[in-house]
Amino acid sequence: MDKPKIDHAWITAAIEDVVATSKENTLNLPTGEKAFDAPLVGFANGADPLFEHYVIHIGDFYLTPVEIFKKAFPQETDVDPVELTVISWVLPSTTRTRKEQAVAVKRPCERWIMVRHYGELFNESLRRSLVARLSDAGIQAVAPMLEAFWSHSDTGPYAPCSNWSERHAAYAAGLGTFGLCDGLITPVGKAMRTGSVVARIAIPPSKRPYTDHHAYCLFYSHGTCGKCIPRCPVKAISESGHDKQTCMRYTMYKMKAYSHDTYDIAVSACGLCQTGIPCMAHIPHPDEG
Ligand code: SF4
Ligand code: SF4
Repeated sequence: MDKPKIDHAWITAAIEDVVATSKENTLNLPTGEKAFDAPLVGFANGADPLFEHYVIHIGDFYLTPVEIFKKAFPQETDVDPVELTVISWVLPSTTRTRKEQAVAVKRPCERWIMVRHYGELFNESLRRSLVARLSDAGIQAVAPMLEAFWSHSDTGPYAPCSNWSERHAAYAAGLGTFGLCDGLITPVGKAMRTGSVVARIAIPPSKRPYTDHHAYCLFYSHGTCGKCIPRCPVKAISESGHDKQTCMRYTMYKMKAYSHDTYDIAVSACGLCQTGIPCMAHIPHPDEG
């Protein structure tokens, strides 16, 4: 049998197939609902200057695709960044989850907590599955978030942050831009989770239909909206942006304890600012501000 041609269509179909067929794509509720609807997939080249910009802006600890690749495959000392592709995906939460969360006011709803826990377990499984499929096709690949070298940093202007950001990978792959609350606004909205894999294969990069990292946010693009500000129960969002420390104190401590006590699942979930707002399910139209 002929070997399949591994290109953007093959990779996109592989990701879509896992999302559509995996039993792990579940909220683990008696209803049997999936955690995520059909994904969006994008590609960025490993030599894209944006990745160096991330290092300059975020900090020296931030890893570029080639650094990720060399950490995962230390024997491959001669790999050129241009040979690498960052494969990124967006997993939209379902309409039912979004509706339930949009009317929550102080704490996340049950479905949101299940997405944060079981949905992210599925996202991990998707990363592993794509790496395995590529590897079976003879392509070296690594999921940065699953590697021991993936870590948090408490230094730099955006601390706390990590040495590889799935949302920044998605931005580079043309999948969305950042909002006032730091969430990524994508064509399927901000209520989503995202993931990425770095692979040694040259795939033509996806078009980035923006030049400004806040292009889709009505606050930055039109001076309007700001509707995520009152959604935050601890005032972590303001016209100055997102106060990560205040957000983290609420999600990491209070909401983790709440989800543990209520659902026996300890996750730092909140996400109230990702629903009940114009950018929840699509790129907002200026009229929605
Ligand atoms: S709710 Fe409005 S201000 Fe907040 S991120 Fe979305 S578009 Fe921007
Ligand atoms: S995740 Fe919750 S605490 Fe953090 S900014 Fe959004 S609404 Fe506020």
